[in-house]
Amino acid sequence: MQKYHFNKRVLVTGGAGFLGSHLCEALLKQNCDVVCVDNFFTGRRGNVAHLLDNPNFEILRHDITFPLFVEVDEIYNLACPASPPHYQHDPVQTTKTSVIGAINMLGLAKRVGAKIFQASTSEVYGDPDIHPQPESYWGRVNPIGTRSCYDEGKRCAETLFFDYRRQMDMPIKVVRIFNTYGPHMHPNDGRVVSNFIMQALRGDDITIYGDGTQTRSFCYVSDLIDGFLKLMDTPHEVTGPINIGNPGEFTMIELAEKVIQLTGSKSKLVFKPLPSDDPKQRRPDITQAKEKLGWEPKVNLEAGLKPTIKYFKQYV
Ligand code: NAD
Ligand code: UDP
Ligand code: UDP
Repeated sequence: MQKYHFNKRVLVTGGAGFLGSHLCEALLKQNCDVVCVDNFFTGRRGNVAHLLDNPNFEILRHDITFPLFVEVDEIYNLACPASPPHYQHDPVQTTKTSVIGAINMLGLAKRVGAKIFQASTSEVYGDPDIHPQPESYWGRVNPIGTRSCYDEGKRCAETLFFDYRRQMDMPIKVVRIFNTYGPHMHPNDGRVVSNFIMQALRGDDITIYGDGTQTRSFCYVSDLIDGFLKLMDTPHEVTGPINIGNPGEFTMIELAEKVIQLTGSKSKLVFKPLPSDDPKQRRPDITQAKEKLGWEPKVNLEAGLKPTIKYFKQYV
């Protein structure tokens, strides 16, 4: 009798978004069958256009706040707008996506016995009073502010993952992602890297919010995806939450200067009001990622900005 070989079937929610599209591509390279689920709120078909001819790839237009019935071996739950202007556009939907979306994906994982990965965020630490942030830090989050729909939604999703784990011993993997950038970011995404590069390429003023001394630590997308795959591959006892990010920390003024230098732009810096609850500093403690995953980032800011600038040129 003929023996059939089945590829591993992997569901990626938010698969047409910035990170999701890179993840779909990496999984296809590992010979997985990939089901990309997206409601196209911030995601774009263009991000996965190069994958459409691959017979192992399929896209479903679906909103994960509604139940989903598919048969898969692994789930990466990335669906959720990530940029502040996007997640604040319809904050109730943002919380629903994180909370009801997590319940649906955990229910699906439970039914089919799938391993499930949650894209959590450094925003669970809020405006931190510990620096850099280790996973053991519980955070300083405003529960009623304009960022809360995202921060608290992601915190509740983590709670759900760990309660499904405790109640059903499900295989879960929770990653806390720190600011990541690279090709496939939306040019009007509103996040700092895309804003600064688009402004520099157009010769527009570069908008610094606040005095520009606040810091972020920027991870290039290929490093992040490598960390995702390593975490998913760990034994049952490894659940996270685990920080994945690049500890190289920059002020927004330093970032603007680097973008101006690399684009050769004549743009000037202008100062705008700081949005409420904007964290003043952020840098991952990646000791756990090093020890448990053997992971650390390889691409520094300058090396990552170059291909990112090249990608954004098509939108100028
Ligand atoms: P993105 O906005 O490019 O991608 C999010 C994707 O989710 C989009 O394709 C969007 O259409 C889809 N989506 C949103 N709501 C949905 C819903 N209800 N049902 C189905 N699809 C839905 O953002 P990204 O940067 O790729 O972020 C991906 C994930 O990583 C998010 O969960 C985000 O919170 C997390 N994250 C990203 C960063 C970062 O720096 N990029 C940092 C921390 C956490
Ligand atoms: N769910 C889903 N797909 C499935 C299985 C479940 O979307 O394949 C949803 C289901 O609609 C439910 C949620 O996941 O609302 C949680 O499922 P669970 O079995 O944990 O809880 P229950 O159905 O008992 O409320
Ligand atoms: N920021 C800025 N100018 C912009 C967009 C953002 O100075 O045009 C600042 C923002 O206030 C924050 C930092 O850059 O302090 C990172 O913002 P982003 O929205 O990229 O990510 P997050 O605040 O979620 O880390």
